[in-house]
Amino acid sequence: MRILDLSLTGFRNYESFQCAFDPGVNLIVGQNAQGKTNLLEAICYLSRGSAFRTRREAELIRFGADFAELCATVDSYGREQQLRAVMFAGRRPRQLWLSGVRKNSREDLDGVLNTVLFCPEDLLVLKKGAAERRKLLDDALCQLRPRYALALEEYRRLLAQKAAVLRERIDRPEMLELIPDYNERMAQTGAIIVTTRAKYLRQLELRAAAHHQAFSGGSETLTLSYQTVSSVTDPAAPAAEVYTQLKEHQVSHYRAELESMQCLSGPHKDDFEAALNGLPMKAFASQGQTRTAAISLKLAERDLFEADTGELPVLLLDDVLSELDPGRQDFVLNRIQSGQVFITCCEQEKVTEIGKTIRIENGAIMT
Ligand code: ATP
Ligand code: MG
Repeated sequence: MRILDLSLTGFRNYESFQCAFDPGVNLIVGQNAQGKTNLLEAICYLSRGSAFRTRREAELIRFGADFAELCATVDSYGREQQLRAVMFAGRRPRQLWLSGVRKNSREDLDGVLNTVLFCPEDLLVLKKGAAERRKLLDDALCQLRPRYALALEEYRRLLAQKAAVLRERIDRPEMLELIPDYNERMAQTGAIIVTTRAKYLRQLELRAAAHHQAFSGGSETLTLSYQTVSSVTDPAAPAAEVYTQLKEHQVSHYRAELESMQCLSGPHKDDFEAALNGLPMKAFASQGQTRTAAISLKLAERDLFEADTGELPVLLLDDVLSELDPGRQDFVLNRIQSGQVFITCCEQEKVTEIGKTIRIENGAIMT
């Protein structure tokens, strides 16, 4: 999967822009606030039907312009297709087009241009709380496994209902009768969630560790281990086994749930631990190591997407080069051999030997 060319009119700080891209690495170079990330945002919008920095479409239209138009020619499963989006200032709804045919919804464009994005906020995945790491797994699995998306949706609904019953147990004790039903369904859907996430994490670890090894010049081994409730001995075991162990946990924690009036049992607090050479990254990893591992995770996510769909998604790397030493920068610029990659950076002297350098100044290409 790759983007052959892109044209923008009235998008962010681009009045009018047109560019053909390299099938390999495209290095987008420019000083701060010139429009590098805006370019990735335009690609993302055509890929997903939404921008990654804002939900407000009005912010994407160039100040003072009546509309923004984004057009790309993509090679998707060997077919050349045109993606087009038009957004209007005011109340008129946006329009999406695929090869000249107007589409009603964002879902109609799904799969035409798949992208994997790394933005600086993704560094938080390895440093911050468990919620970010669960989101990383859930976002990928919801796209790849429809059964997982359904289980997760049901689990979240049951969790909210059970939490409400526990919270109100003093005023409405009769509602506690519902808890066994909730627990049963939460153990069933919970088992699907735990086993699917744990199996996916193993696949992710296999590939991310290989990328991280190459990235770090062979000196660092990345491991990822899934962490769930204490009674589950192997989260990647068959779902029936995990179901039984989740039920055991519910029984042993019921009294504590009544006392705390909170839901304490189930995979909603699950996490995974990333470690380098056996040391937990959260406590010990340097900035550069964190960045290397976060990019390796994205590369692995892209591999797994390819294994599932048969095409490598386009990789969008925003601002990844800072904090990396020359060897690791060289890996990003010259060693990601497969598929199309877009990399933004500020350093004017950076070049890629296997692709094209595009210099951006004030929303225009410098020649
Ligand atoms: P950095 O190196 O700092 O990340 P960048 O080149 O990635 O910079 P962008 O985020 O792409 O910069 O562009 C930011 C510029 O785009 C800002 O100066 C901002 O004011 C401008 N901008 C954003 N939205 C609009 C808009 N709707 N109309 C006009 N200009 C806009
Ligand atoms: Mg930027």
